[in-house]
Amino acid sequence: MTSVSDAPAIDYDAFHHEVDEFARTQCPPALRERVRSNAKLGREDYAAWQRILHARGWAAPGWPKSFGGTGWDMRQRYLFESVMAQRDCPPQYHHGLGHIGPVMLHFGTPEQHRRFLPGILDGSDWWCQGYSEPGAGSDLASLKTRAARDGDHYVVTGQKMWTSHAHEADWMYTLVRTNAEGRKQEGITLLLIPLSLPGIRIQPIRTIDAWHHVNEVFLDEVRVPVDNRLGDEGGGWRCAKFLLDRERLAPAIVVRLQRLLEQVGEQVQAQAARPGGQALAGVFAERLLLAEAEVRAARELLLSAIDDEMNGRLRASKSSALKLHCSELAQRIIAIAFDALGARRAARFVPVADDGRLEVAEDAESNMIHNYLFYRSRTIAGGTSEVQKNVIARELFGS
Ligand SMILES: Cc1cc2nc3c(=O)[nH]c(=O)nc-3n(C[C@H](O)[C@H](O)[C@H](O)COP(=O)(O)OP(=O)(O)OC[C@H]3O[C@@H](n4cnc5c(N)ncnc54)[C@H](O)[C@@H]3O)c2cc1C
Repeated sequence: MTSVSDAPAIDYDAFHHEVDEFARTQCPPALRERVRSNAKLGREDYAAWQRILHARGWAAPGWPKSFGGTGWDMRQRYLFESVMAQRDCPPQYHHGLGHIGPVMLHFGTPEQHRRFLPGILDGSDWWCQGYSEPGAGSDLASLKTRAARDGDHYVVTGQKMWTSHAHEADWMYTLVRTNAEGRKQEGITLLLIPLSLPGIRIQPIRTIDAWHHVNEVFLDEVRVPVDNRLGDEGGGWRCAKFLLDRERLAPAIVVRLQRLLEQVGEQVQAQAARPGGQALAGVFAERLLLAEAEVRAARELLLSAIDDEMNGRLRASKSSALKLHCSELAQRIIAIAFDALGARRAARFVPVADDGRLEVAEDAESNMIHNYLFYRSRTIAGGTSEVQKNVIARELFGS
């Protein structure tokens, strides 16, 4: 019998070299350029890269081998993500691989595994998250979208809010209320809803950055087969918690911050090289250095969380601290780029058209402005900063 200690030791240096070689040679130059210039990636960009990773057997760095994943440990995942960020390869689309996929592995039936996992792995199925509603964001358990059982179907009626990528997605994993009695958490069920079903309407929400990310999704008597339920009826809250607890420990976020900081540093240098811009490098040096120290702190926090995770002792307060630190740091880093461009120059990238729409050109500088504006949402999406602070306080002080 093979014990854990009999397993061959992982040569992390060789692994790093192998991933680097792959990233350097396999990412299509046009895609790499889009990532390097911080363009908004669409479904086709993500899917193209996912197909390449899938062909290499690296479709799912966070999944066990038995389900088509790589079986890598957290250190390998961290190295993989670091290389991907440094080589300007696209991040992997997270709603399938990082969010609902692991929930399916844990709570799904073998039939559901056969049905849903291949499309996530090869990038042909695109998922979005239907959790939040008007009046149910931080207090998610208050959600009201109801699902009434009718034979082999649930009939779903309600509204979802801030649904990222719904306009590009095939499926929405959706929390619905199947019981209005008792504790509100116990009446929640998780359904997998094809967005092509009759009765679904998707309406864009315009955000200040002028890109289309989020939507409202209206459901009007949508008939969803009972087979599309993940977990037990009334067991949706357990699935939701399982997902949220893991969502916050994503190695990719820290390593992408490191890359962003390098790009912002380059942008400051470029501005300083313009006529009359010589003083800029000195003005921004302190902020860049401080951000560098904060990125290192994020890295230490992440590595410590990874260690805890590998030893089965990761606490929610640590992943919440990581989410809190990284989302606020991302805003501070991108603000350096914005300030270096200067308000007048930056304002040229966000002209308001006659109909009130923001129109912004597609180049590296204006992409930075888009991102500056979009990053305002980093401290809201995935749980607000105040909510993270509550999690930390509850665990540390028991309040
Ligand atoms: C860009 C973007 C993308 C998103 N994508 C998705 C998605 O794909 N799917 C999805 O389901 N949702 C998504 N969301 C929704 C997101 O999860 C919610 O916006 C978030 O949970 C906050 O909920 P809310 O907007 O209802 O604000 P509220 O919960 O109403 O909060 C309003 C304010 O009150 C504060 N507050 C609330 N409760 C407390 C408390 N107990 N203690 C202290 N302060 C509190 C909050 O911190 C916030 O400042 C997205 C949001 C954004 C901005």
